[in-house]
Amino acid sequence: MTAKAVELRSQGLDVLNFSVGEPDFNTPQNIINAAKNAMDSGFTKYTPGSGIRELKEAVCQKIDRDNNLSYSPENVVVSCGGKHALYNACQVLFEHGDEVIIFTPYWVSFPDFVSVTGAKPIFVNTISERQYEPDFSDLESKINENTKGIIINSPSNPTGGVWSDEAIKKTLEISHKNDLWVFSDECYEQLVYDMTFKSIATFTNDRDKVLTFQSCSKTYAMTGWRIGYTIGNQDVVKAMGKLQGQSTSCPNSIAQHAAVEALIGNQDIISNMVTKFKTRRDLILDGLTSVDNILCDTPKGAFYVFPDVSHYINKSYKDKVIKSANDLSMILLEEKYIVTVSGESFGAPNNIRFSYATSEDVIHKMLDRFKTILSLVK
Ligand code: PLP
Repeated sequence: MTAKAVELRSQGLDVLNFSVGEPDFNTPQNIINAAKNAMDSGFTKYTPGSGIRELKEAVCQKIDRDNNLSYSPENVVVSCGGKHALYNACQVLFEHGDEVIIFTPYWVSFPDFVSVTGAKPIFVNTISERQYEPDFSDLESKINENTKGIIINSPSNPTGGVWSDEAIKKTLEISHKNDLWVFSDECYEQLVYDMTFKSIATFTNDRDKVLTFQSCSKTYAMTGWRIGYTIGNQDVVKAMGKLQGQSTSCPNSIAQHAAVEALIGNQDIISNMVTKFKTRRDLILDGLTSVDNILCDTPKGAFYVFPDVSHYINKSYKDKVIKSANDLSMILLEEKYIVTVSGESFGAPNNIRFSYATSEDVIHKMLDRFKTILSLVK
């Protein structure tokens, strides 16, 4: 899709990109200035592999302030983005013969993080009408003596779903009963609408096997800076630091200093961003669901909507039979230059992911074109 989009754009066509996984805002100036100061002050050298003490302390301050969690710097490892953190944690904890629970639809990288360790990803169904919370009977039926971990991602990419307190508590109960490592990928924690986010670790006093993953990427529009962090069990965190010390070495020294400012400096960017994203979410959701038979519950977080387009599968657009969500996604691109990501890559073949990290003007244009295409599907 990306290659095709690039080709169309190079032909001068008005391509509308709804596939991006990052905020369309620039990194705030105070964070950029902190990076400049870091360079001027000579923080341009290697740092400890697991990150500088100052940043670990800033992480502890941040999670106390925002997430009501109390941890010490020894519980923190800083990595080159949340992706690196999740990858390392899987490397440290899982191996051949293990099974790890992943909820469908899933972020594309989860199954690969697990399978490269030799462990097996086990997919569990969710309920789309309920913020993609787990289908608990499916979950319980898939746990056995080989199950070692469970990966939770709320708010979710690709669905935008945010689980209720009850769903989280029940998942934690099942996880504790079966002695599982609980991974909570909270990289979209600040991007929630009409509600307050609660970090999963706050739901239990038994946090020994709960690992919390957060990132500067989405919250502070810092995707290119590559700073993410893990908070949890000291032994695991230490092992992750050791592993990255022998692979990537430290995260970028300048970005680490900038991340200190991001986490404990002025936080205004977040509420501004949330207000904008909420307006866009409502706009895109109203537009998409005003089309006959396009189904999409209101996602409570992240910047994605994930409508079910199954009604249009096995119907025809002009002479072409739409055999999958991927075919429909291709038609949107080829006919109307709308770039989306079809659900196949997230384990959800009936859906298409639209990222609304783009302007309201672009959303309006896309909706007009989308409606035109679907009105021609017979
Ligand atoms: N987790 C989820 C669910 C994501 O969508 C992403 C990025 O798209 C990440 C983790 C990793 O982000 P980063 O490595 O930029 O922190």
